[in-house]
Amino acid sequence: MSWQPAENRYERMTYNRCGKSGLKLPAISLGLWHNFGDVTPHQLKRDMCRRAFDLGITHFDLANNYGPLPGAAELAFGEILKTDFHGLRDELIISSKAGYNMWPGPYGEWGSRKYLIASCDQSLKRMGLDYVDIFYSHRFDPDTPLEETCGALDHIVRSGRALYVGISSYNSQRTREAVEIMKGLGTPLLIHQPSYSMLNRWVEDDKLLDTLDDVGMGSIVFSPLAQGMLTTKYLSGIPEDSRAAQDHFLKRDFIRPEIIDNIRKLNGIAEKRGQTLAQMAISWVLRGGRVTSALIGASRVSQIEDCVAALDKPDFTEGELAEINVYAKEADINLWAKSAER
Ligand code: NAP
Repeated sequence: MSWQPAENRYERMTYNRCGKSGLKLPAISLGLWHNFGDVTPHQLKRDMCRRAFDLGITHFDLANNYGPLPGAAELAFGEILKTDFHGLRDELIISSKAGYNMWPGPYGEWGSRKYLIASCDQSLKRMGLDYVDIFYSHRFDPDTPLEETCGALDHIVRSGRALYVGISSYNSQRTREAVEIMKGLGTPLLIHQPSYSMLNRWVEDDKLLDTLDDVGMGSIVFSPLAQGMLTTKYLSGIPEDSRAAQDHFLKRDFIRPEIIDNIRKLNGIAEKRGQTLAQMAISWVLRGGRVTSALIGASRVSQIEDCVAALDKPDFTEGELAEINVYAKEADINLWAKSAER
């Protein structure tokens, strides 16, 4: 018998309005950057997507290059859309992006009209979709006029390839510039996707969240668990089956003793609150209602269940926040900092 989603799937999740738009996003969304490539068994990908959806996660975040190999995550998700999620398209918010290196030659990365539109078409084909709900410029391109990048996003919406558009890892100043251009074109920017966690607080220094409030855009913050560092898994070394063991995007040398000391202290605070550290890390990025959605990744179903339970304890006392502040220190792990410096 084919899989049927849980009837009570909308009972537990919170849905937050995305900026000043009509769209609501789940407070927790699932990203398919890791663990949706060719090396992960397809059944595990299906199980994670099914469980996420049953828990009210309606938003799945992809990009052209998610794999490995680049494109593999979109192909796998396209399969899941045909099988498990068949008939559920109107209950889903699916996003994709273009900006990083995807194919050889001068037209396979950054922010030109040529690249963005071609890449969007490729993503739609891989997923077997007529449109994505949100399409992003994945990073600011210092060499392409912002008017061109924004013009391509506008075209992507007007031609029906996407319902909404967003930007990722742009700093406050570039965000304001893009907002103005898009306003002039008549296609508002819906959402910003920056990195943000207790170990990576650049959006606070850059005042990006203030900017987004000011211009009425929503936010979906990625790597709220600092790629898994904000869990208990690295407190006594690097487990073989962890992301850090791959030493690729999460480098082994991010796991330094002084950082682990702070993480241990944060774990103590989470325990006092009656949460796992992962749950507290998610509640923390969502605190005060400024962030629309926390965009997590997972390598197993139980992690998704653990993360969604963060919603059971959203509030912090002033004392807890002050104590967290002592240990929530920059850990020099922001791989996307360069994008925001431009
Ligand atoms: P993350 O949630 O910070 O890290 C996910 C990793 O944390 C998992 O793979 C797992 O690590 C571990 N984990 C998750 N839940 C756990 C739990 N409850 N207990 C213990 N460990 C847990 O997020 P991320 O995967 O780095 O990024 C999330 C999404 O953000 C991506 O999929 C992508 O959609 C998006 N993203 C966007 C950009 C951009 O430039 N716009 C860049 C990066 C990511 P193990 O694998 O070690 O088990």
